Amino acid sequence: MSATDPGDHRGIGMTSARTRERLVRRLAAGGIHDATVLERIRMVPRHLFIDEALASRAYEDSALPIGQGQTISQPYIVALMTQALLEGADAGRLEKVLEVGTGCGYQTAVLAPLARQLFTIERIASLQRAARERLTSLGFGNIRFRHGDGCEGWPGQAPFSAILVAAAPAEVPRALLEQLAPGGCLIIPVGPPGQQELLRLTRTAEGIKRECLERVSFVPLLGARTEKP
Ligand code: SAM
Repeated sequence: MSATDPGDHRGIGMTSARTRERLVRRLAAGGIHDATVLERIRMVPRHLFIDEALASRAYEDSALPIGQGQTISQPYIVALMTQALLEGADAGRLEKVLEVGTGCGYQTAVLAPLARQLFTIERIASLQRAARERLTSLGFGNIRFRHGDGCEGWPGQAPFSAILVAAAPAEVPRALLEQLAPGGCLIIPVGPPGQQELLRLTRTAEGIKRECLERVSFVPLLGARTEKP
């Protein structure tokens, strides 16, 4: 992470360093062991990604509404997915990363300094616009935004060293697997509500390696050409 991280906007009161530190300690106690990930959670001002009326709850470890029936992900889940992606990425190098489901842009902000280039897709135009404005005003310079169906990936920018999906399809979208670079990994929740598993699918010389990381609960990924891994 760079010393001049654009996400480092320290706040006061409920958004203070002490409140954030409590969240970081909670995530560490819950099994997040990657120091880079914990530092990203510490640095990113989550209160700036939600409605002001909810700001006092920004550093609770819970998902919160962001409008349009969508949520900002629970910090534990953002940390878990980021950790899984860093551990799975080829030799820890993240050149091009694709994120599907920008939402309010919180996960995007956690990821951006860890990748050379980050590409992010959101299907709801108003969320996509707001996330782009927020992340641009926070000074992130290596993110490209797209409004559209993330199930198709971003063919013009493939292959990706890692892909992270923040909503759950019934089955893995084929295009996302096809757009993984050799050694690259796809972090994706899969399954119907109440039965979702977070998967890490890695493109190896022998084919796709499948690891099940944890039981999770995500909003559905809408759209979709899919395939069983
Ligand atoms: N990553 C966000 C964060 O930092 O908290 C939360 C994302 S929210 C849980 C999931 C997002 O995926 C929603 O904004 C939803 O509109 C979006 N989404 C669902 N299906 C999609 C699709 N096919 N393509 C792109 N975005 C999609």
